[in-house]
Amino acid sequence: MSRFFSEKHAALTAYTPGEQPRDRRYIKLNTNESPFPPSPLAQRMARQAAGELNLYSDPECAPLVRTAADRFGVEPDEIIFTNGSDDILNFAFMAFCDAAHPAVFPDVTYGLYPVLARLNGVPFGTIPLRGDFTIRAEDYCGVNRTVFIANPNAPTGIFLPVRDIEHIVASNPDNVVVVDEAYVDFGGESCVGLIGKYPNLLVTRTFSKSRSLAGGRLGFGLGNRELIRDLNTLRYSANPYCINSMTMMAGVGALLDDDYFRFCCGQIIDIRREASEALKRLGFELTDSSANFLFVRHPLFGGLELYRLLREKGILVRHFETPRLRDDNCVTVCSGDDMRALTDALAALLEEKAHETGDN
Ligand code: PMP
Repeated sequence: MSRFFSEKHAALTAYTPGEQPRDRRYIKLNTNESPFPPSPLAQRMARQAAGELNLYSDPECAPLVRTAADRFGVEPDEIIFTNGSDDILNFAFMAFCDAAHPAVFPDVTYGLYPVLARLNGVPFGTIPLRGDFTIRAEDYCGVNRTVFIANPNAPTGIFLPVRDIEHIVASNPDNVVVVDEAYVDFGGESCVGLIGKYPNLLVTRTFSKSRSLAGGRLGFGLGNRELIRDLNTLRYSANPYCINSMTMMAGVGALLDDDYFRFCCGQIIDIRREASEALKRLGFELTDSSANFLFVRHPLFGGLELYRLLREKGILVRHFETPRLRDDNCVTVCSGDDMRALTDALAALLEEKAHETGDN
């Protein structure tokens, strides 16, 4: 830390993104990216936009807002686009949390939430998930806090039904409820249909997963127009041109190419089912994931141990060394070939383990 670093941030511990090592080629199953390239239409539109990079991008993201409003059945002023959904989550903490509206989220969820709370000087609390990692919806009803729920949750992949989300939203009328639907396209059900009914519901989404644009950095929020106006006040104050022109047009292309989107999601869902079955056959325990990742543990391996052994074999998964997640790993659902490489590596590790313990 330099002696110039503001005291207000001195205690901040930054979020650690999933590693992107360059020392060798890994099968990357650690950051929940899509194994598919962006839609060909998205790529073409981004290339066209590259020819006009001498001009500033459109701060209103007008073509993208129009296309998305059509796609999601909302009005253009009920949508905001940001630089990835991490960006809108940051704005949500900034806009809707303070001492009178502390934040609350599950103890096991997206690790950026507590970091954003601290960054914005927002008091926050966590509510433990049940032992099986499900969210107990009643715990969030009438809490009088700004609620953040990832649905499906990360890293568990478990989906909370929309009727439970509705109870939470309806019972906290004086606080915003942020539903982070980063993974909803892989089997969850969106609660976007509720935004007309509840002025305190903000839904956040991303193009990083189901639309194969993680490197493009594009996220968005849907909600009541007054919530969106508040978020826009912050966005325009922080970085009015936060979406670059290529990403904006890639986003339009990705939304228009609905067939490609459906194909990719369908593939991930099929591969997830096959990989889950293969992992269960190897003795793994899995949560019921509605996301593009699997949350797995094996009775014979510690979580960190398995992470390290797989890394040595050139396969990266995500491990969180916290007391509740010590036994688990989060594994991105990737191409069929990559998932087979994973299950082959795991079968080999289990065999090695059996030799070690003299079971063979
Ligand atoms: N929400 C959740 C639950 C996530 O896991 C992620 C990805 N790490 C994000 C939001 C952010 O995604 P992005 O900023 O790439 O849109």
